[in-house]
Amino acid sequence: MKDRYQVVVIGGGIVGCSVAYHLALRGLTDVAVVERRELTAGSTWHAAGGFHAINADTRIAALQKYTIGLYAQVERESSRSVGIHLSGGIELAGTAERWRLLRSELAWHRMMGTDAHLLSPEEAAELVPIVNPTGLFGALFDPEEGNLDPNGATHAYADAARARGAEIVLQNRVLSLERTDAGEWLLETEQGPVTCDHVVNAGGLWARRVGRMVGVDHPLTPMLHHYLVTEDIPQVKAIEGDMPAVTDLEGFTYLQREGDGVLLGVYETHPKHWMPEGADWDFGMELFGEDIGRILPELTIGFERFPVLKDVGIKRWVYGAFTFTPDGNPLVGPVDGVPNYWAACGCMAGFSQCAGIGLAVANWIVDGDPGYDVFGMDVARFGSYASDDAYLRETTAQFYARRFVMAYPNEELPAGRPLKTTPCFDDFDSEGARFTVNWGLEVPLYFAPSPDFEENDTLGRSNAEPTVAEEVEAVRSAAGAYEIAQYARYEVTGGGAESWLDRLLSSRLPEVGRIRLAPMLSEAGRLVGDLTVSRLDEDRFWLTGSYYLQDWHLRWFRQHLPERGVELRNVTEDRMGFSVSGPTSRAILERLVRDDVSNAAFPFFAVRRMDVGSTQAVVGRISLTGELGYEIVVPTDRHRALLHELREAGAEHGLRLIGDRALDSLRLEKGYGIWSAEFRQDGTPGMSGLDRVVAFDKDGFIGREAALREREEGVRQRLVLLEVDAADADASMDEGIWLDGRRVGVVTSGAYGHHVKKSLALAYVDTDVVEARPELTVDVVGEERAGRILIEPPYDPSGSKLRDVAPVG
Ligand SMILES: Cc1cc2nc3c(=O)[nH]c(=O)nc-3n(C[C@H](O)[C@H](O)[C@H](O)COP(=O)(O)OP(=O)(O)OC[C@H]3O[C@@H](n4cnc5c(N)ncnc54)[C@H](O)[C@@H]3O)c2cc1C
Repeated sequence: MKDRYQVVVIGGGIVGCSVAYHLALRGLTDVAVVERRELTAGSTWHAAGGFHAINADTRIAALQKYTIGLYAQVERESSRSVGIHLSGGIELAGTAERWRLLRSELAWHRMMGTDAHLLSPEEAAELVPIVNPTGLFGALFDPEEGNLDPNGATHAYADAARARGAEIVLQNRVLSLERTDAGEWLLETEQGPVTCDHVVNAGGLWARRVGRMVGVDHPLTPMLHHYLVTEDIPQVKAIEGDMPAVTDLEGFTYLQREGDGVLLGVYETHPKHWMPEGADWDFGMELFGEDIGRILPELTIGFERFPVLKDVGIKRWVYGAFTFTPDGNPLVGPVDGVPNYWAACGCMAGFSQCAGIGLAVANWIVDGDPGYDVFGMDVARFGSYASDDAYLRETTAQFYARRFVMAYPNEELPAGRPLKTTPCFDDFDSEGARFTVNWGLEVPLYFAPSPDFEENDTLGRSNAEPTVAEEVEAVRSAAGAYEIAQYARYEVTGGGAESWLDRLLSSRLPEVGRIRLAPMLSEAGRLVGDLTVSRLDEDRFWLTGSYYLQDWHLRWFRQHLPERGVELRNVTEDRMGFSVSGPTSRAILERLVRDDVSNAAFPFFAVRRMDVGSTQAVVGRISLTGELGYEIVVPTDRHRALLHELREAGAEHGLRLIGDRALDSLRLEKGYGIWSAEFRQDGTPGMSGLDRVVAFDKDGFIGREAALREREEGVRQRLVLLEVDAADADASMDEGIWLDGRRVGVVTSGAYGHHVKKSLALAYVDTDVVEARPELTVDVVGEERAGRILIEPPYDPSGSKLRDVAPVG
């Protein structure tokens, strides 16, 4: 071992070795993997080695595809077999609803370019003769599944990294991590001190402990998991070549070929945590004695589905530990406030995700940018709340227990809730609010018609839609109040505020008393935020963004913040309020303010401090519903008083509380995009239409060169609004859009436009198709529906209502 490297990767599991390989691949070869014991000595050695490309997040799914595809290259470069069997995999549907879901999953595969297909129960049993087809509705075959040898794969990555110049140091625990005055990392290790520029935490079962060495408490926790391996089974032995893996979606089990027997793993409904802080340092390559009683209910179902297991001997049990995060995806990337420390941990599907993680971390270290939209695994997607013991236990248990349980798109899951509530929570609750959760915060979805109303879990439109329709109608005909606690706010002040924001934001800064939309770009010209900027005073600005992006945005802001002259404060929890919009919203506001809020005195995009009722507020003339509207922001301790005063003033003007579902319907009627759907890290101003507010002639903003290049060269896809001939279900996200069997686009969000009575979808569609505007088809819950691109939004296309001016034409 040398005493200095550019990068030290802590941990020689499948993830750490992949990170080192990818760094070397990018030309950064002054890298060492420092491993406590032997390679694979954490979770990796006893894994079942299964892999698959499917993931609810399409960007992560693409990286999983990349992972699977890369094994051949790693084998070639290392001259070592990873023992891969690309056997394909079968998911079994035991209920009609699950069968419908598999059909829509097939459409998802088609959108992703995977050659999946449906099977009858008998066809499934033909491919895997130990499957009992009784009671099955059908199955889905996915060719991008299989299994490999975990030990072989890890050593292959390590050898391939070594061949490119990286070093692997074994039997050497990292004892502590410290930042030196020179800005390096000093690692005390069992074999002596080492310094480096970057340190990567790929500590697997110990990653939480490694994180705490630098003051970071990662939201991950080890949990226990069982699988068994059987003696030879004649029906399996008789199969020449690979046998597809099987996931029994109603049975909590997965099965794959292991020699001439099978391996059966169980995701039980009452999972068990183990050493929440991370394994002890002296924990070796140990297994636990099997605890069959704990998994008996799920095993019993498994033995009904695979009856031969009742008669065959069990060769060995594996009962080991691996780490989970609240949403089951890994924790990857830099951590705000800890320069050159990188997370590459919390990975529960190492053999599907190791290369995706390695690629993102290597790109990020080398280029300062992961190169892909990796928000779904970005360590910044969770706030500090996620590391609270109770929250972490509940959410990880929920994820584990529901690994194979069908999730409905409108289903609200209970774990870790309620965690954060606003001062109006009880008021909303007593008014029948049904809540969803945003970064731990309870947010009204809609206000139910009666206390005993229960929403049905469904793949289509739910029985809550008539209520949502009433909320939409209230906004279109009178007024709706929408809580805006789930907007993040940052106050930027100081003599350097203007010049800093001018560089950070791609739009021109507003005059005092005005608001602007302000896309934020990376150097590569990709979107990093769809903020609005309000100028309250010459040197006082508010940036408004998405609530759940706080850690992500703060990391970006701080990376670019000058040492002096600018003060940045996150005031999200200190300020809340309501967005009141609809034709009567001005009349409501006028009852509460002394200021003149007429169109002439307080036009669209104006912002001003004014007393609203009993409280000093900041009021912005802005709305996402397409109606005349105001955002009223007050100190959090006045938030509830504002609600009561608004309700009193609004009683005779038809004011109604509205939730997220109504807002979605309203914004789609106007074709407005939002972050994580239309606007994402892999999007650009030209694609998303945000180029209309980019000040191309403004010097020096981040991403200008790339944005200019894009304007010059044009874009491959553009954001458009579609009308879809859907019957009882709407598009939601990631559905494919087709023209003569060719994929020409993908849906970013969809909803029923209750006022315009159309099923609507925003989507990225190939530019030539956008221009030709032919009849298209859109996959909606597995069925192809006709759809067409709208030239203008179906509601108030001229924007006269929003601006409160006479309609054009
Ligand atoms: C029973 C079971 C079955 C599984 N089946 C599958 C499967 O089929 N498919 C799949 O994809 N995944 C499976 N997994 C999960 C899989 O094992 C993990 O996703 C994967 O191994 C995680 O790899 P890692 O490199 O992140 O962590 P680990 O394998 O835990 O590696 C971390 C390494 O870091 C080292 N380390 C930690 N701290 C230090 C330190 N301070 N100094 C030096 N070194 C340190 C450790 O010694 C260890 O070797 C299974 C897990 C279990 C338990």
